Amino acid sequence: MRNSCSFHYNAIMRELYWFQQDLRLQDNPGLLAHASASELLLVYIWQEPRPWCNLRGIGQQRRRMQLEHLLELRQGLQALGQDLLFLEGHPQQLLPALVKRWRIERVGTSRCPGDYETRQLEELRERLPVPLQVHGGNSLFQRQQLPFDLEDLPAQFTPFRRAVEHLCAEPLPAPTSLPPPPTAAAFPPLPPAEVAPHTSLPLRGGSRAGHRRLQQFTVGEQGIADYKLTRNCLDPLSGSSTLSPWLASGALSAREVAHAIAAFEQQRLRNESTGWLYLELLWREYFHWRALLDGPRLFRFHGLGNGRKHRFCTFDPRAFARWCQGDTDYPLVNALQRQLLATGWMSNRGRQISASCLIHELGLDWRYGAAFFEKHLIDYDVGSNYGNWQYIAGVGCDPRGGRRCNQHKQAAEHDPDGTFTAKWGGNRPRQPLYVTDAADWPLPATEPGCDLPSR
Ligand SMILES: Cc1cc2nc3c(=O)[nH]c(=O)nc-3n(C[C@H](O)[C@H](O)[C@H](O)COP(=O)(O)OP(=O)(O)OC[C@H]3O[C@@H](n4cnc5c(N)ncnc54)[C@H](O)[C@@H]3O)c2cc1C
Repeated sequence: MRNSCSFHYNAIMRELYWFQQDLRLQDNPGLLAHASASELLLVYIWQEPRPWCNLRGIGQQRRRMQLEHLLELRQGLQALGQDLLFLEGHPQQLLPALVKRWRIERVGTSRCPGDYETRQLEELRERLPVPLQVHGGNSLFQRQQLPFDLEDLPAQFTPFRRAVEHLCAEPLPAPTSLPPPPTAAAFPPLPPAEVAPHTSLPLRGGSRAGHRRLQQFTVGEQGIADYKLTRNCLDPLSGSSTLSPWLASGALSAREVAHAIAAFEQQRLRNESTGWLYLELLWREYFHWRALLDGPRLFRFHGLGNGRKHRFCTFDPRAFARWCQGDTDYPLVNALQRQLLATGWMSNRGRQISASCLIHELGLDWRYGAAFFEKHLIDYDVGSNYGNWQYIAGVGCDPRGGRRCNQHKQAAEHDPDGTFTAKWGGNRPRQPLYVTDAADWPLPATEPGCDLPSR
């Protein structure tokens, strides 16, 4: 009886699925949940980030990568007789209008962490005249799999890892068919990308390129087998997996990567390196759930507020501009920043070095650095970005209360012959050491609280 009722119910349903950070067909529980509608309108809404920390817009490489993910998703949908409606604006306004226009009866999307995203979803729920179903987000595990309530998420990574590392996360197959879009729906073309990938990082967006990279890193070149030794390499594609651009957009799911690691372990080799790669996926997972739980605290200067030290800083626009452009007195940091600007990517080691410089050497507000990364990273992910910045600033989930890199030691260890620094033009003329206060009044470098290097 229940089956025949639900069949009748589904048979008349016209639904809308709003893609967000799940730009893929395979392993997409949200999309699958709407695959039994009679007609399905698939939508992506491009949202320009709001100005924050003196920054606006997004970097060209990040924009390019996102458009490529979307283009491929659209092609995949077209092969199934579907299409993707690309719109620009505010979902709270656009989605209710679409619901009205197409007489949609149910809307679905996936959950995205972030304070703004959460509030946006609440507002949307209030404005929609039909039910809004929010499916699992861009994470490894579903919320109901976690062996604790979200409110009881461990305050640090290690107990979280112990609690979840044995959970199972199997990817779902791609749908073999989808309901058609409402008849007469028009799908204008996507805007073109304005740049090509930088020659030193020739990565394209879309699930196919993501799968190729996953294949190359595991069974192909088997970089996974030495990952623990090579992961600190500053260049992409030769040390760490460089899977983050696809993971962040959802073109690849974390479950697919976890599955590939497990398959490699079963069929080829299980060692410290394969385990370490899985560990990094768990870090990503931890920051995902932290971001959902922490809400606005992820963007506050004092972060989670459990730091032992109270931090102070002056905002020196000149120091921030120099750091952004890669024109500081730290050649390796300059090279890293220039790599980010040109390619949209920086290694994990590079991000730690550069973030530590902004926070601990230049004495700036960590959120400005995080906002700059947000603008440019082709793998920008709210939880991983702001969570890692908080960690280094000592206002997040680090039990040691912050991480300060010794800049000279890091350069000697990770770029001993200066090849990377030279490649990205990091050797810049030194500039006078002074800072200014908020009213542009110069302060001597020895002023207490300025925390400038003692060189
Ligand atoms: C200041 C700072 C900002 C960061 N911002 C982001 C961000 O916006 N988006 C993002 O995806 N990662 C971010 N990271 C984490 C990490 O630097 C990148 O995930 C990693 O460099 C991506 O390269 P990869 O794919 O080769 O990583 P690999 O070392 O091959 O790791 C595999 C995957 O594990 C995850 N991962 C690895 N390290 C971390 C980590 N420390 N925290 C969370 N997840 C991790 C990523 O999804 C990554 O793709 C940040 C780190 C720091 C220190």
